[in-house]
Amino acid sequence: MKVAFCTSEAVPFAKTGGLADVCAALPIALEKLGHQLCVVMPQYPGVETTSLPVEIINDHVSQSQLGDHIPVFFIRHEKYFHRSGLYGDRNGDYNDNVQRFHYFCDQALQVLQALQWKADVIHCHDWQTSLIPVLLRYRFGHEGFWEKTKTLLTIHNLAYQGTGPAGDYAGLGFARDSLYDELFEFYGQINLLKAGIMTSERITTVSPQYAREIQTRELGCGLEGVLAKRRRDITGILNGIDTRLWNPETDPDIHKNYSPRQVADKQANKAFIQKKAGLACNPDTPLFGLVGRLSHQKGIDLLAEILPHVEEWDIQIIILGNGEKQYEDLLRAACAHAPERIALFLEFNEALAHQIYAGCDILLMPSRYEPCGLNQLIALRYGVIPLVFRTGGLADTITPYDQGGNGFVFDTYSANDFKSALRQAVDIYRDKDVFAALRVKAFSYDFSWDSSARLYADFYQQMVAE
Ligand code: ADP
Repeated sequence: MKVAFCTSEAVPFAKTGGLADVCAALPIALEKLGHQLCVVMPQYPGVETTSLPVEIINDHVSQSQLGDHIPVFFIRHEKYFHRSGLYGDRNGDYNDNVQRFHYFCDQALQVLQALQWKADVIHCHDWQTSLIPVLLRYRFGHEGFWEKTKTLLTIHNLAYQGTGPAGDYAGLGFARDSLYDELFEFYGQINLLKAGIMTSERITTVSPQYAREIQTRELGCGLEGVLAKRRRDITGILNGIDTRLWNPETDPDIHKNYSPRQVADKQANKAFIQKKAGLACNPDTPLFGLVGRLSHQKGIDLLAEILPHVEEWDIQIIILGNGEKQYEDLLRAACAHAPERIALFLEFNEALAHQIYAGCDILLMPSRYEPCGLNQLIALRYGVIPLVFRTGGLADTITPYDQGGNGFVFDTYSANDFKSALRQAVDIYRDKDVFAALRVKAFSYDFSWDSSARLYADFYQQMVAE
């Protein structure tokens, strides 16, 4: 099976969130199962600064490699991709994102064809590559080189849809005006994700629970009607994590490597991060962590409501995140009263993220919705207990410890329920034996890509056979 991943980000070349983790780890896991993979993505400035060699193929394309033999083709375009951000900067989203990713999708198909990389399946991800199935059907035509190629669109987050002014449609160059109404129109705007949902052969999302949720009015982000039309073609497959990259036994970024058998060494990481964060180095103080994009989705407003209680509950919190200015400001204000108990890092810093996972006791994920969530899976791998809102992939992976599960869960999205769950977590933390048993259990979970990669491989197989 030959599968081309077309994506806007993949580690280690570019990352803003979980999409980048998935678009590197899943191809690598599929390669191990004997499939042939390639990845196509834009060449951002950061691509050249990784430790992997990048070779120029021609004026528009460079190449590197992932896994054992996975070529990564970078589409170069100085004006579109040589920018400080992937999709926007501090002033918001770039206003030519439709043009940028139209160019990318068109080039990705042209490059695959020029290189004679005949994919059985093109696996597209989110709005950035949603034009690929549209272009294949209406411009390239499913004939000749592309005759047998199927397209799969994975929705990593339905809230991001790639919208722009209706006038952008003309620039896409489709001969038929009617395609605008059929595929793109969304409340008077152009919507790339909608067009991808309407035209890709199959659709997956990143957890079974989120697959159900996106078909409801509450979490359908206005596309629930479109998704209902494709109901039979939507499947949820849970993400995994790259267990080589996320491995406390070998992680080069953490202070001291540790295994489930040497949990005492985890304490050294706690002391390290407490010191680095300017917190008191007390091994008995419960240390909470939060790593994530600062957005409406991630429940930063709920987090802000617990911060006034850190002294009263005798806890410490380390927050690492970047994103929307309003949430940065909210956190700055909410953290200022207790610098000796709350540490705030407003940046994207991969090494620091690893150190926080290694050092903290409990990871906070008060997300309003969460398509899959990788942080909670990473947390378990590092012997950290997740505290989550029951939604999407968090509901599929974390169950309450008092029902034989692996974490702390709150069911109603309110500051009060979040506070109760947090206080319960503090009580359990102070019961050393119970918390130690919970930690041993955390280490026992296997969220590697092995089983999910098999599900994807079966899925591709079915698509090709249809
Ligand atoms: P999302 O894709 O919605 O941002 P996920 O939970 O799927 O959330 O994936 C988040 C990934 O991004 C994890 O690997 C997490 O460690 C990482 N991450 C998020 N924010 C930061 C940050 N500020 N610094 C470093 N890594 C981050």
